[in-house]
Amino acid sequence: MMGKTKSDIFTAEDLSQIEGEYKLLRDNLYRCDNPGDRELIDKAFNFANEAHRDMYRNSGEPYIIHPIHVARIVNQEIGLGSRSVAAALLHDVVEDTDVALEEIRREFGPKIASLIDGLTKISGTYNKETNSLQAENFRKMLMTLSDDIRVILIKIADRLHNMRTLDSMPEYKKMKVAGETVYLYAPLAHRLGLFAIKTELEDLSFKFRHPRIYDEIARKVKMDEKKNLALINRFSLPIIEELNNNDIIFDISGRFKSIYSIWKKMQSKNIPFEEVYDLLAVRIVFEPGPEMSERAQCWQIYSLITDIYTPKPDRLRDWISRPKSNGYEALHLTVMGPEGRWVEVQIRSQRMDDVAERGFAAHWKYKGDMLQTDNELDKWLKHIREMLSNPMSDPLTFLDEFKMSLFSSEIMVFTPKGLLVNLPKGASALDFAYEIHTDIGNKAIGAKVNYKLSPLSTTLQSGDQVEIITSNIAKPEKDWLEYAHTAKARNGIKDALRDESTDRIQKGRELLEAKLGELGIMPNSDIIKKLLEYHELLNKDELYSRIGLGLINLDELRKVLRKAPEGSLKKYWKLAIGGVTRKSSGEKESPLPGGTIDKSLPYLLREDVDNTGDSYRIAECCNPIPGDEVVGYIDRSNAIIVHKPKCPTAVKLMSSEGNRIIQVRWTIHKIASFLARVSINGIDRIGLINEVTNIISTELNVNIRNINVSVYDGIFEGTLDLYVHHTRDLNNLIMQLSNVRGIASVKRIEEFIE
Ligand code: MN
Repeated sequence: MMGKTKSDIFTAEDLSQIEGEYKLLRDNLYRCDNPGDRELIDKAFNFANEAHRDMYRNSGEPYIIHPIHVARIVNQEIGLGSRSVAAALLHDVVEDTDVALEEIRREFGPKIASLIDGLTKISGTYNKETNSLQAENFRKMLMTLSDDIRVILIKIADRLHNMRTLDSMPEYKKMKVAGETVYLYAPLAHRLGLFAIKTELEDLSFKFRHPRIYDEIARKVKMDEKKNLALINRFSLPIIEELNNNDIIFDISGRFKSIYSIWKKMQSKNIPFEEVYDLLAVRIVFEPGPEMSERAQCWQIYSLITDIYTPKPDRLRDWISRPKSNGYEALHLTVMGPEGRWVEVQIRSQRMDDVAERGFAAHWKYKGDMLQTDNELDKWLKHIREMLSNPMSDPLTFLDEFKMSLFSSEIMVFTPKGLLVNLPKGASALDFAYEIHTDIGNKAIGAKVNYKLSPLSTTLQSGDQVEIITSNIAKPEKDWLEYAHTAKARNGIKDALRDESTDRIQKGRELLEAKLGELGIMPNSDIIKKLLEYHELLNKDELYSRIGLGLINLDELRKVLRKAPEGSLKKYWKLAIGGVTRKSSGEKESPLPGGTIDKSLPYLLREDVDNTGDSYRIAECCNPIPGDEVVGYIDRSNAIIVHKPKCPTAVKLMSSEGNRIIQVRWTIHKIASFLARVSINGIDRIGLINEVTNIISTELNVNIRNINVSVYDGIFEGTLDLYVHHTRDLNNLIMQLSNVRGIASVKRIEEFIE
């Protein structure tokens, strides 16, 4: 996928470079000792070398150097065998040269051909710009999971080498490749247990995306390197001695945290480099002895170490009793080392180390004798295969779903524009708001989660699409802290509250005292209690600050103080308004000359003005009103029941008793009213319900039967039951209501049970 050009001919240096690189691969082959292994690899190399002859990469190196390096990664870093090495050497042949897949099949057999086929199909289309192409590509790549996981592993090796040599790519491609790497390939490598590769992919990607920060951290790490090495040595000596005394065969090595993970820690904890304390780690890989289980030996080593150094109890990570979902097993502990520095110690058996470093391949190698049944990784692979076999999902949806399946402790939600935001599990819409920007969080008043208006406290699920509704007059409130989980949200809220609250509490207190003074009342705790109950507040500061903000109207103070307190935490209105006309859904079943109805003409639904009695009934399942499309059904007692044609009951009747269905048509209704239900929701504010009821009562042709509203975390939701003469009146009203500030949606509810 790297660009290349045909040159006249390779120079002598080129040829010797090729020879040298191939020799490095060949001399260090890992587990390729079966008869025929080396022959196969040689044959693949010669074939690829011939096919890529005279081709160069952007870096100026002969092209074949790239497949050789990919083959080395495949073998030495992932641990795959000779067939995969051969496939890695051949991986760009079909795509980039004249060689046809058929030729590979003839020369190397169907197995290697199918690997190359998979690799060719998924190869990059990096010059194409649309998202869905990338996604489709990625899907194709995963499609091969169901055939052969090795294709993915070779692809990851390919990506790793491209990242290692990304410098020679044009700038605009760098960003794209680096972005894709951290978005998909690193999590994928992680999921497949390729821990070292995942770390390197992240580091390389970070380096290209944030070169300045990368360099800065790298410089600081380097600066401390000597000192840290000495520290690790000093730290290790007593451990080495103790393990030797106990006849444990082991390897110990010191390691530094990766630059990317240092940066992530600085970000998530909001701390400078100097405060990232677990920069140092020591890894102990032991050879299991026969007399104890691997697990018991891990704990034996643990106890030997904690005899020397004091452990930090909350930093013990036991992945031996419960391996990570990608198969990772180890025991991690953090202890206090020399000079008061925390040092992480990782304890692994050789097998665990192999699985951790080489991931998937090693996992399968050991699986046979480990008697592991249906572990997490297998479940995940099964899940991926199921996702892939669903032809309905489009590439982008698939990509999202796939990406989500890579994480378990995080959720992924989307902005309205489709940008991905990672949040911890359990995060609320408010966390999302602050994640986007502190200003958005500070001005948030509500959210639309999957287009539905929801309070800021709503817990988000992976895949939700979230839009934050903001208002310039909105301000963070104290109870937000109850559902703000991320550090960013909590800090944002606290900062804003600190600035705000002192002023307005003071102001509110003064206002209240002045008003009480006017009324000749001395402020006392009973009065405060009454006010708290009335306004459903929990403490004085809140009351003062609301008064200070003008959210509580002091003109009603006298009235409020006279009132008995209400206990409910919910605001709740229920009005019953009588005196409305309503005849058409009456109880009477008037006889109807069903047999004499002329079915060729629509039956007219007349208003009952001539005292001939009700001639029809409104079906309660769908509640049609004049103006709605309707059909009639002649029931057993010869009454006409009026349904909407889309009503499920009507649909059933039409198909089963079609002969009883008649055409009906509304006439003008001026007196009779019909019940309709409207649902409204929006952001609560003072005076809102009043405005709503005002609009309804000034609408001459509409009568309120019932209003039912509840308010929860600043979002109100409710239903209005109304009597109307015609859909026109109803639509009018809906239009007017939806113009009210704060109302997010007004909808007629067509189906309801009274
Ligand atoms: Mn390649």
